[in-house]
Amino acid sequence: MRVDYHVHTHFSCDCTYSMEDMCRAAIAAGVSQIAFCEHEEHNPGDECYHTLNHDAYWRELRRCRDLFAGQLTIRAGIEISEPHRYAAHIEPTLAAYPWDYVLGSLHWLDEQTNTLRPEFSTRFGPGRWRDSFRAYFREMQRMAGSGDFDVVAHFDYPARYFKAPPGETYDITEFEAEIRPALQALVARGKGIEINTGSLRKGRPDPCPPPIVARWFRDMGGQILALGSDAHRPQDITAGLAQASEIARAAGFTHIATFERRRPVLVSFTQA
Ligand SMILES: [Zn+2]
Ligand SMILES: [Zn+2]
Repeated sequence: MRVDYHVHTHFSCDCTYSMEDMCRAAIAAGVSQIAFCEHEEHNPGDECYHTLNHDAYWRELRRCRDLFAGQLTIRAGIEISEPHRYAAHIEPTLAAYPWDYVLGSLHWLDEQTNTLRPEFSTRFGPGRWRDSFRAYFREMQRMAGSGDFDVVAHFDYPARYFKAPPGETYDITEFEAEIRPALQALVARGKGIEINTGSLRKGRPDPCPPPIVARWFRDMGGQILALGSDAHRPQDITAGLAQASEIARAAGFTHIATFERRRPVLVSFTQA
């Protein structure tokens, strides 16, 4: 794959690799365009709370753009958690720099509930994990309807670490009634979704979201679909993206979305 639109560097609190190292790995992997999307967290309980140094990120990004000019197109991205909840905090950040790409994430169901921690699935009581997922997708409706972002990251994120109780299975189609209004809001606002392959490296059978969501989105008129590995290590750049690309095609997409200065640029699969 020549495009990877979700990569982290040590500007994210959960990644230790330099931007230069990630660029070199991307070039070695045959990538021609990369978007760095660093964690911007405004929930005080988050491990990455207010750890992104914007000025330092931009200095290094510009240095890498010069260093790898002609070899690698480097897009300035940011992964903002709950952009609808922290709009007042985010507005100045987005206005202060010429961002290319803004991912919107739902890492926290509400101020207290991290979607990857055990308290997520018991938020509404023991055994009521389906209610947690319903609440998550309803919150996604709110984010999709009002958040300032370009593409929703990892649409069914809690599933990445969730283990259903014995005899039960997480099946995203059970939540179609909650998911479709969120997708509809994205279509109406010209926003997109990504196929995030990080879940494959966590042992999940599907990328995030599963293929059916890309199909629903396409059938509802969705145009903007991005592909991202969510790599936090050089060796994970583009991992799983060939599979994601096949899923996108099978869902009916003819192009993959890239971004420049927050405007989508659709490229054909042969260029992606
Ligand atoms: Zn994320
Ligand atoms: Zn990420």
